[in-house]
Amino acid sequence: MTAGPRRVFVAALATETNTFAPIVIDRKGFEDSLYAPPGQHPATPTLCTAPITVGRKVCAEKGWTLIEGTAAWADPAGLVARGAYETLRDEILGQLRAALPVDAVVLGLHGAMVAQGYLDPEGDLLARVRGIVGPDILVCAELDPHSHLTAKRVAAADFFVVFKEFPHTDFVDRAEDLWRIVVDTLEGRVKPVMSVFDCRMIDVFPTSRQPMRGFVDRMMALERDNPRLLSLSAIHGFMAGDVPEMGTRMIAVTDNDPALGAEMAERLGRELFANRGRHMMPLIDEHEAVARAMAATAHPVVIADVWDNPGGGTAGDATVILKELLARGATGVAVGTIWDPVAVQLCFVAGEGAELHLRFGAKSAPLTGEPCDALVRIVTLAADAQMNFGESLAPFGPAARIALLTPERRETGVEVILNTVRAQSFDPSLFSALGIDPRAQKILVIKSTNHFYAAFQPISSEILYCSAGKPYPNDPATNPYRLVRKDIWPRMADPFGSEA
Ligand SMILES: [Zn+2]
Repeated sequence: MTAGPRRVFVAALATETNTFAPIVIDRKGFEDSLYAPPGQHPATPTLCTAPITVGRKVCAEKGWTLIEGTAAWADPAGLVARGAYETLRDEILGQLRAALPVDAVVLGLHGAMVAQGYLDPEGDLLARVRGIVGPDILVCAELDPHSHLTAKRVAAADFFVVFKEFPHTDFVDRAEDLWRIVVDTLEGRVKPVMSVFDCRMIDVFPTSRQPMRGFVDRMMALERDNPRLLSLSAIHGFMAGDVPEMGTRMIAVTDNDPALGAEMAERLGRELFANRGRHMMPLIDEHEAVARAMAATAHPVVIADVWDNPGGGTAGDATVILKELLARGATGVAVGTIWDPVAVQLCFVAGEGAELHLRFGAKSAPLTGEPCDALVRIVTLAADAQMNFGESLAPFGPAARIALLTPERRETGVEVILNTVRAQSFDPSLFSALGIDPRAQKILVIKSTNHFYAAFQPISSEILYCSAGKPYPNDPATNPYRLVRKDIWPRMADPFGSEA
């Protein structure tokens, strides 16, 4: 370690890969979401790039040198093309080599990337980083909990800090945790050591409800109360990634106290296992969701199409809930969004105010419903639509607001926003971006598992979590995995056997 001002290298390479999804991510997939060469990352972070923006602040305060590498983030989809991964990886590794000597390498990763020919790209990247800097230089990363904590990653990095909240409202807070440990390490106050417990399970863990709310609050209290405990994290796992080490893990980072770390990770990990199957909110089908929404007396009711979530790598074009609403004659409905670039293109050619017969939705994958054939009026076109996501903005591309009409060309009271850049429904501003007042609707249909909650809860009378069709591999007991290990719950009833 050099004396005096430190030199820290930072970069980000992230996406979340649903290995069952048909949409391959090439380099343009990153460029469409976020691609920032060194020094050109914007002032506000996206989900996985907060280590860069927080690092700028920390290094400026400390008088340290921050050497920025590339930052790239692609919205979740299917496999990353081999060439896209390898060129982005080699770009960052070349920047690191040019930056040497450094005192630390801080990365913004997601942790659920799978590329053609690479089941563990982040493990590959971290191992190569370790190979470049050697065993004594600090290597750490911030991760999304929906990731795969492979042995290769754990061996290559000194420690990880993972978002605690799902919805991920805390990605900046956790980047601050990461950097606090970096500073304390480089100034000689602590020596981070990582302990991991394999929970031998996979589940979905929203922290907006119990039991995870209490679990996260307790993790934070434990971190506060014990100075030797530098960080606690739960890796939720990502069930749409068919990779050997998919599953839930508990991480404890201690100040050189592996015994304490192992004990804490196991204790908390066994608590997650004990609550298996009780973390996810209860789901209802499209029939019950629409019936309850139409019977509601307070509005707007939000129906979340939880599994057709582009944030989980699906196309986001399922029509199952929309068809049910139309079959029952629901009115005061706004659907945001259905992904259909071809239909949007047709709308742009026709222009605002035009009426046409349009086929849209359900074109990308089986079990997402049937395409919708409707007489529509094009109400609004937006060349570059975007919505709020926390303090940042999420683009959803050229978009068209269409009103569905009766054969007599009267409005049915159902409107749909069609989009071209796949994006989950983070925020009600996706509706206002196309001139729809979300508060004035009776029913809002959105596509998101839980990230919508923070922004939609305050404006909605009720939230209905709906499982409609099967756009996503949402049942780990029956998903057609080829590579995921079999000795995890619920693929196996009792993976701990007699030792549990
Ligand atoms: Zn996540």
